[in-house]
Amino acid sequence: MSELRKFLFDGLPVRGAIVRLTDAWQEVLRRRASNTTAGAYPAPVQSLLGEMTAAAVLMQSGIQFDGALVLQVFGDGPLKLAVVEVQSDLRVRATASLSGAVENGAALSELINQNGQGRCAITLDPARKQPGQQPYQGVVALSDGEGQGFERMAEVLQHYMRHSEQLDTVLVLAADAQVAAGLLIQRLPVKGEANLAGQASEGEDAAQADTQGQNEDFNRIAHLASTLKREELLTLDIDTVLRRLFWEERVLTFAPLTGEAGPRFACTCSRERVAQMIRGLGQAEAESILAERGDIEVGCEFCGQHYRFDAVDAAQIFAAPGSLPPGSQSVQ
Ligand SMILES: [Zn+2]
Repeated sequence: MSELRKFLFDGLPVRGAIVRLTDAWQEVLRRRASNTTAGAYPAPVQSLLGEMTAAAVLMQSGIQFDGALVLQVFGDGPLKLAVVEVQSDLRVRATASLSGAVENGAALSELINQNGQGRCAITLDPARKQPGQQPYQGVVALSDGEGQGFERMAEVLQHYMRHSEQLDTVLVLAADAQVAAGLLIQRLPVKGEANLAGQASEGEDAAQADTQGQNEDFNRIAHLASTLKREELLTLDIDTVLRRLFWEERVLTFAPLTGEAGPRFACTCSRERVAQMIRGLGQAEAESILAERGDIEVGCEFCGQHYRFDAVDAAQIFAAPGSLPPGSQSVQ
């Protein structure tokens, strides 16, 4: 079963989380494979989307936020867009769209950053928005700032965390057809509320320990974390990974988050949302689709659910904004 585990290093300003998505990730892949139009993902896309899914769960688990964390990459290459959305309660959905053939073994730059136009966006979309409130979004290039393109998602996100969020971060990610997994290690600010060490004194030592890249405890644990191999992350259970990496450290682990409390596949699409989208198209556009095809059929990219609206349904959408067409049914 999919599982998320958070942990702390006793007395040190370092926290971690490890995620192992099995059933949740397999469900994402199964739904895509059963989509006869799009078909299963090529291996490099599967691997990238799995790594993004694990990373998005880890990032969502590390913030106090009521809403969706959306991790996207988009750019130029055969992969047009990959999107992962994780709600605060760890419901997960993910999808990718392709515009061309993907070579076996294609790396990140070949998939989506062929001319340096690739971007990674992290959006925090609050569950309850104030009127006019925009979601927070951070966008970074898929390169290190000196033109060197990243070849792994973990590098992109480490770069983002260090530069945009000023957080020392190590991420190890891996995914295949069965498992999407990740390990996150982050340094907490030594000063302030999040001070777990509780012993930061004024003066040079404390200032040094609170400077990015300068905390010895973090650097030691980060080094241990970075020795974790892709294969180990995919095949070993969480306790074994933590023991192997940190057997010399005092690790305090929280209770495993699994089942309804843990990361799980769930789509947030609904007939009502699709109706809103059709309303957004405008009546003229909707009527032209109806004239051409007889009904408006919308398939959810994330879960494969199909929603069909005939002329009567569509007329009701525009006649009574906000209400659902009565008696309407979604079709599988
Ligand atoms: Zn859906």
